[in-house]
Amino acid sequence: MNRIDLHTHSTASDGSNPPGKLPFMAKEAGLSAIALTDHDTVAGLEPFLSACNEAEIEGVAGIEISSRWHFPGEVHVLGYFMNPKDRDFRKRLEFLQNARSDRNGEMIRKLQSLGIDITLEEWQQEAGGEIVGRPHLARLLIEKGVCRDMREAFGRFIGTDGIAFVPKEKLTTVEAVRFIREFSAAPVLAHPGLLKLDTATLRDFLLELKDNGLAGVECIHSDHDEKTTIKLLELAVRLQLAPTGGSDFHGTPKPHVRLGVPEVPGSYLDGLKASLSGRAEETF
Ligand SMILES: [Zn+2]
Ligand SMILES: [Zn+2]
Repeated sequence: MNRIDLHTHSTASDGSNPPGKLPFMAKEAGLSAIALTDHDTVAGLEPFLSACNEAEIEGVAGIEISSRWHFPGEVHVLGYFMNPKDRDFRKRLEFLQNARSDRNGEMIRKLQSLGIDITLEEWQQEAGGEIVGRPHLARLLIEKGVCRDMREAFGRFIGTDGIAFVPKEKLTTVEAVRFIREFSAAPVLAHPGLLKLDTATLRDFLLELKDNGLAGVECIHSDHDEKTTIKLLELAVRLQLAPTGGSDFHGTPKPHVRLGVPEVPGSYLDGLKASLSGRAEETF
């Protein structure tokens, strides 16, 4: 059986491996195809795809977009087969990134108003060229002696219940699905098991997303137990959505997750491709 991994992250977002290295690691792991799905960016796709050529492994252009819905927490939407050079696609992503940096400024202002000596520049420096995120801010708060550890930084200040927390400006999940479709790419709901929804709520959610162009659902994922995977595969068949899967490999930030684990059959990639051309029903 061909094995693939349709969910990985590189240093272009929050992974520890450069995008040009992942294809070689995937080849080494015996995979026949790999997708790069960095958070809210396609910056790693060009070096990734050219390394796929070099490593002689099928490369799939991807992204993972953060969105919000009516229940708490983020909803992640994967997108596949977009053209990474599409200027309009990049422009729209940049717009989302800018919304994020306004939010960062506001969090810093809140911390300053609490009497903490901290600047946005220091936070950016701490990120060292990565997408500026809250873990970097937590590290900075620890370095400054404001907090003892990450737990305190998130609990007191910058976690969702913290006093300096500002929610992200995010697309709704329906908007994220439409955005991906608009650029002829295939939207897939990422790791639905993490949403902790009951089956009926999840089914209704998937149906609403399908009405807006959802192509698939990530059934196999390193955080799904067997029961969840089986339930999701049944739902995917029933709703005629392409089942997909991936490890969500990040490298050192998630040391327990290995590339290509759990196993994902290569036929899932064919099903996803077929969903783009509207022939989904024929393949499964
Ligand atoms: Zn995710
Ligand atoms: Zn991910």
